[in-house]
Amino acid sequence: MSRIAIIGAGASGLAAAFRLSKGGSEVCVFEKSRGVSGRAASRSRNGCRYDYGANYLKPQSNEIAELLFKTLPHDDLCRIAGDILTFDRTGHISPGDPKQNAESKWTYRSGISTLGKLLIEAGDFTISRETLISSLSHEGTQWSLIDADGKTNGPFDALLLTPPAPQIVGLLVNTKADAPVIAKMMDVLGPVSYHSQFSVLLNFNANVNLPNQAFALINSDREHQLAWLSDEGRKAGHVVQGETLMVAQMSPGWSAEHYDDSPASITSAAYQSVSSLLGDNLPTLHWSDFQRWRYAHPCAAAKIEDTVEAAEIGLFFAGDAFVGKGRVPGALETGLAAARRIIETF
Ligand SMILES: Cc1cc2nc3c(=O)[nH]c(=O)nc-3n(C[C@H](O)[C@H](O)[C@H](O)COP(=O)(O)OP(=O)(O)OC[C@H]3O[C@@H](n4cnc5c(N)ncnc54)[C@H](O)[C@@H]3O)c2cc1C
Repeated sequence: MSRIAIIGAGASGLAAAFRLSKGGSEVCVFEKSRGVSGRAASRSRNGCRYDYGANYLKPQSNEIAELLFKTLPHDDLCRIAGDILTFDRTGHISPGDPKQNAESKWTYRSGISTLGKLLIEAGDFTISRETLISSLSHEGTQWSLIDADGKTNGPFDALLLTPPAPQIVGLLVNTKADAPVIAKMMDVLGPVSYHSQFSVLLNFNANVNLPNQAFALINSDREHQLAWLSDEGRKAGHVVQGETLMVAQMSPGWSAEHYDDSPASITSAAYQSVSSLLGDNLPTLHWSDFQRWRYAHPCAAAKIEDTVEAAEIGLFFAGDAFVGKGRVPGALETGLAAARRIIETF
């Protein structure tokens, strides 16, 4: 039985772990955080459950639709009510793309991070949480992973790397292995930079609706300081009745410029921005939450074909660095495809 190590318990790493464990491999996932599901992230607070990273899922392929609606338990999935409208830099709101609005958007009643938990429950693999892998070593045909506590984990026959590209490059810099192959992989992933983004959660002790009872407003010309505003109340089971919980995502440009500002000042800017977009009559804030995403969305895509020679040393890649935009279904696809490549190789 081959032993496979996966770094990252996001959508791509967990999809790969699920598929590989079903194929009979012994799989160990290493995740630096306490939670799982990566940027498909949810949190609970004051009786509300909310998605503060990826906001919704839209399966774009039969493979992912089958995974979500057939293979994994699906009774907790909920279709999100309401359209996505657009707004421009002046704050002018338009109806949005009818084709896109006709497509169903999904999350889980218990939050989008349930996706990661379902992949873990349906698979048969181990996860080491709160384990930051800081360096890698390949000797003979075996991989070892050294964590931040200095512990060596392994040996493994194959290694799958799934973090955002800049974090993969950070690991490759600390890798003892076939030097030309590692240098080539750094060339493949090095050019894939990521946008940073803030998510600000605004809770009101009153009902506040977006225009036309929309689910969300998205900035179409990318020139507004707000990139996205959505109503978690359009998701069944997320928000306490009589309250409103909005997700405001600041634009990548504004987020980069204000990256080191305090959460209080970023939350205040988000409130002002949302208030002015919705006509300056927002109620007083009841409570708020905040997340700084250093690596939110890839700005470009690496080509998976450019990584094939790494398979010769048992090294594989997945994650949204190979999708070119931040999409959970795309990340899942890269994980399933990596599992197929690993199974073919071992
Ligand atoms: C604000 C925001 C809004 C978004 N909106 C949407 C949306 O509405 N719809 C949509 O489909 N997508 C959306 N996305 C994008 C989507 O969340 C990502 O594309 C997807 O979740 C990426 O999955 P992944 O497995 O590639 O990476 P990740 O989810 O980032 O998983 C990688 C994992 O690796 C771990 N890790 C990194 N380095 C190490 C290390 N050295 N050791 C151990 N563990 C490590 C990380 O902690 C992480 O858990 C959004 C993202 C953000 C941030």
